[in-house]
Amino acid sequence: MSQTEGVYGYSAVLMGSPILLKLFEHNETLASQVFRLIKQYEDLLTVNRAESQVMSINHAAGKHPVTVSRPVFELIKCAKAASLFPDSIFNLAIGPLVKRWKIGFKGDSVPPEQDIAALLPRTQPHQVVLDEAEGSVYLAHTGMEIDLGAIAKGYIADRVRDFLKRQGVEQGLINLGGNVQTLGSPEGGWSIGLKKPFSGPDEMLGVIEVANKSVVTSGVYERYFELDGKRYHHILDPRTGYPLDNDLDSVTIVSTDSIDGDIWTTLIYGMGVEKGCAVLANRPDIEAIFVTKRREIILSSASQFRFTLLADGYQLITGSTA
Ligand code: AMP
Ligand code: MG
Repeated sequence: MSQTEGVYGYSAVLMGSPILLKLFEHNETLASQVFRLIKQYEDLLTVNRAESQVMSINHAAGKHPVTVSRPVFELIKCAKAASLFPDSIFNLAIGPLVKRWKIGFKGDSVPPEQDIAALLPRTQPHQVVLDEAEGSVYLAHTGMEIDLGAIAKGYIADRVRDFLKRQGVEQGLINLGGNVQTLGSPEGGWSIGLKKPFSGPDEMLGVIEVANKSVVTSGVYERYFELDGKRYHHILDPRTGYPLDNDLDSVTIVSTDSIDGDIWTTLIYGMGVEKGCAVLANRPDIEAIFVTKRREIILSSASQFRFTLLADGYQLITGSTA
């Protein structure tokens, strides 16, 4: 536990990420309840261990449907819908490729082309068959695997927010490895740092100020490896099976629910600045902060947050000029 100016910070490592909870009261019991809740969801959703509800679905691929608990079913339904969105690079069935590349894990390597070609047909989102009445999920082909890595933290951050609310907490923040959800509005709002790509953990491009909002970032610097001078990062293009390269280093989404932020960072990363801004013009509830390799910070709009630029050498571009 740490304390600065009336804010109490509690940390843990869960889901392979550092987790930070901030409260305005000293309450160890509440903090352990929050960490227990996160762990319960991790146990249901992880694909980084042999057993979980999602792993039961994966183990039964091509064999039979598996009935799962309602939250797991609803999350998979949501992930499937995001995967079928027009022009979406989000793909909940990306598992076989994620497992083959192992990016960010021990043993990561560039797979031979023929391996990728062989795995691609096993990553079709429409072959994730949902039965609403049974609450079951069936992967229609052997070798298929669901991976909820791009959505689970957002979902869990929202559950933590709801839990804190039910406990009567008026102000709090949960940071699940860069996936932030906030409750309430302390003086001036919550300040959330926007990380400088490929720099030390404390080097910030700027500060995002929000109240009662989620701030989620997907960055190509989060998990990657380098081979022969080339960088391979963890957001895969389901059309090619290779990391998706464009002119972006990161996308941050500000939204009410963190699950939206988690989904939209992936969607918008895949669309790029121009198309992303065009799509978000019809979604005032979802706002994006793009960081480009050309060292621009582009805001699609900024009605739910305030951004202050801190880093030298970066140019801030806002709204209609974006
Ligand atoms: P995030 O941290 O939310 O950007 O999600 C990244 C994680 O999502 C990766 O580590 C993979 O587990 C998974 N993933 C990679 N590529 C995709 C994709 N195209 N669609 C959905 N999930 C993906
Ligand atoms: Mg995500």
